[in-house]
Amino acid sequence: MKTVAFSTLGCKLSFAETSTFEREFLSAGFTVVPPTEKADIYVVNTCSVTAAADKKGRNFIGRLHRLTPEARIVVTGCQAQLRAESLADMPGVWAVVGSDYKSDLLSIATADILDRKVFVKPIGESRKYFSAYSTTERTRAFLKVQDGCDYHCTYCTVPLARGDSRNAPIAEIVGQARAIAAAGFKEVVITGVNTGDFGKSTGESFLDLLKALNDVEGIERYRISSIEPNLLTDEIVDWIASGTKILPHFHIPLQSGCDRILAAMHRRYNTDFFRRKIEFVRSRMDHVFFGIDVIVGFPGETQDDFETTYRFLEEIRPAFIHIFPYSRRAGTPAAEMPNQVSEADKKARVQALEELCERLHAEFYAANRGRREQVLFESTNKEGRMFGYSRNYIKVERDYDPALVGRIVDVIL
Ligand code: SF4
Repeated sequence: MKTVAFSTLGCKLSFAETSTFEREFLSAGFTVVPPTEKADIYVVNTCSVTAAADKKGRNFIGRLHRLTPEARIVVTGCQAQLRAESLADMPGVWAVVGSDYKSDLLSIATADILDRKVFVKPIGESRKYFSAYSTTERTRAFLKVQDGCDYHCTYCTVPLARGDSRNAPIAEIVGQARAIAAAGFKEVVITGVNTGDFGKSTGESFLDLLKALNDVEGIERYRISSIEPNLLTDEIVDWIASGTKILPHFHIPLQSGCDRILAAMHRRYNTDFFRRKIEFVRSRMDHVFFGIDVIVGFPGETQDDFETTYRFLEEIRPAFIHIFPYSRRAGTPAAEMPNQVSEADKKARVQALEELCERLHAEFYAANRGRREQVLFESTNKEGRMFGYSRNYIKVERDYDPALVGRIVDVIL
């Protein structure tokens, strides 16, 4: 067995984990091939955040088996943790590797024989932390700093798939950031499940982590992949605004602009808190890019509730809205709630928010036109054009120039 192909069907965190598996296989002498080609081993890092993600995972595994029937398919990620037995029964699946066995994935995949197919511990017993960072892309690296979640929002399966909140020590993460810098990356995306909840298993704080990463030579920019509003403390905001490498780009889950729905979701803030948080950040930093997550069609959400959410978004004016139609997930309290919203209503609400997002996004770009900004140009050459992102996540395009790949340059937006 000498060739292996990797696929990530989930989030930035999974991407960092897959890239870490890839480094392990390369050190073991494997050649990495694209998953569209024949391979001896396929590693599939799955997602299970929605029913659609589950379906996509199974279809993908089926396709790989048809491509190379004799190959070993090793399935890991959230779907592996939540639906191990049904995945193990699929043709071509050699092993299903859950949260606690990720550091054994290489040895499981390459074992001569296995005494079982399922390597999954009940999530309540999962304590291990699998350290990971990506070096596969050329421009920015994903650095996993935290895993699991203790929040248990009523619609979410993530705690069931990833276990309790835990993390690596700051010293270890700083070591990984130095390795990323040594590999020539200038930008790092700090990622986790509940990133701001960093420190649960080491007694350290998220602010301490940011300060330590800020001192790593060679890395010039950090983006926080996502952070709960209640964990983006005023102290953290003040420190970021004091002139650091942490960029003015915040991805913050709101989920609903209606307090009654936020309470039913067991979110840890209300709209007044959220509004004041956005205002506080804006009072400390200019031209901040806010990407806001919103779920539409949560059980019990009336048309009035949705319109309240719509008006709230119009008021706080994010630069982008990440829109998710509610997905009923077995094992979550919300799945058992009355007044499930019809697919037609969800669709109409998604469409309304997409139109709003387009308007707000254009407005944010217009408000930045003519400003001087620093852009990190990426390696992609698309029909002689290249692109990059400003500090506040504005996409800039220009004629391709290989000398600019991976460089941060001043531009007028
Ligand atoms: S904080 Fe996020 S990951 Fe945790 S339960 Fe809530 S939605 Fe899921």
